[in-house]
Amino acid sequence: MTSTDSTDVLIIGGGVAGAAAAKTLREGGFEGRIVLVTRELDAPYHRPPGSKEHLRGEASHDDALVVPAAWWTEHDVDLRLRTSVLSLDTDEKVAKLQTKELLSYDRALVATGAMVRRLKAEGTGHHGIHYLRSLRNADAIREDLAEVGKDAKVVLVGGSYIGTEVAASLASEGYAVTVLMQEDEPLERSFGAEVGAWVRARLTQHGVEVRGGVEVEAFTGEDPEDGKSRVTAVRLADGSTVDASVVVVGVGATPDVMLAKKAGLELGESGGAIADDRLRSSAEGVWLAGDVCEYASSLHGGRVRIEHEDVAEQQGAFVARQWLGEDEPYAVVPYFFSDLSDWLSLESVSVTHGRPFDGTRIEGSLDDDAFAVWLLDGDRAVGYASFNGAGDLDAAREVLRSGGPVPSA
Ligand SMILES: Cc1cc2nc3c(=O)[nH]c(=O)nc-3n(C[C@H](O)[C@H](O)[C@H](O)COP(=O)(O)OP(=O)(O)OC[C@H]3O[C@@H](n4cnc5c(N)ncnc54)[C@H](O)[C@@H]3O)c2cc1C
Repeated sequence: MTSTDSTDVLIIGGGVAGAAAAKTLREGGFEGRIVLVTRELDAPYHRPPGSKEHLRGEASHDDALVVPAAWWTEHDVDLRLRTSVLSLDTDEKVAKLQTKELLSYDRALVATGAMVRRLKAEGTGHHGIHYLRSLRNADAIREDLAEVGKDAKVVLVGGSYIGTEVAASLASEGYAVTVLMQEDEPLERSFGAEVGAWVRARLTQHGVEVRGGVEVEAFTGEDPEDGKSRVTAVRLADGSTVDASVVVVGVGATPDVMLAKKAGLELGESGGAIADDRLRSSAEGVWLAGDVCEYASSLHGGRVRIEHEDVAEQQGAFVARQWLGEDEPYAVVPYFFSDLSDWLSLESVSVTHGRPFDGTRIEGSLDDDAFAVWLLDGDRAVGYASFNGAGDLDAAREVLRSGGPVPSA
């Protein structure tokens, strides 16, 4: 017979959202039992270094840990690595773990994050084609590059953050790098074509070849008969080919709602699990946080799901504070950062998700290394980004919070 264990708090998912919830509970004096169950092989860590300093071999795995490895036992949090929660009975408040254990809970946080979006193209099974979500994926890319050597021809599929960050990291290591993307300019979808062209210029200045407006159709390999031999080229929809020995695909992520769906939690338009403005799911006793959470946001005027590290941490901590007795809506202006090697660091605050921007206004000059950009919806400010430290992010955050117009130049 399977015995049922019990916990006051069950956290599902050991990303930064889940970790922030556990940390905030203990820091807030919570003395009840906390069990954090995660499929992850490693204790909670930050993913951003995976396309930046970790990928460049400048930082270790331990450098990326959310808290030192000993923290979990020192703070009496039962951390279960390499374990999936298979199902959640939200009526009975019982979770079934991969270990066959049943765990009854008082409150649960579903922070199951996101998974990489797979590219729909022929030949993706070839050796040398990588996706990047975990630090272990970054290690695998480094090992592969070491195997091929400094002559490796690296191709990035995708011109957004993963694509541009990985391109910059590997170009700074001396590899020949090509970025292939559907859009015309890198980061165009985030900041518009004008800023995108500036980013392209930075990449090309450092030796990265950038090809916009292209569609990847297939990968071909050393052995035409063997779909698993090393990749040698990428074929584009226009019939042209690009030489490649190592490929990194960065075409976005999709929320991991496998458990949420099975548990009957209501799902939203973006594919995430729906939460109200307190991050409560549609099931009593179950909260949501991070990449999986599609929450009701007064700042955005609707439901949004945001894949930013800071948002995941803020939401995990927010849920913990609700459990500790706070009662207020979640209303933090989303913050994001990105680094292209040591050539470009950008920070942004925005409420654009789910709402398009139709214009931009540059503060400073695109002829300089540092400038800022407002994203506009009509005359209303919906986003702001600081490139290489220019501008005033805090002031912009206040404008976005209050829904005000763009300050005059
Ligand atoms: C390479 C890379 C670079 C990035 N760089 C930046 C950046 O520069 N700036 C920025 O703001 N954001 C960045 N991000 C995005 C940021 O890392 C994510 O938004 C953040 O990690 C989301 O955290 P999370 O806790 O919601 O989810 P995740 O980190 O995805 O964690 C969820 C965890 O839940 C586990 N899980 C899922 N289902 C189950 C289950 N049924 N049972 C048990 N466990 C389960 C998963 O295995 C996973 O470990 C980057 C992401 C990547 C991959």
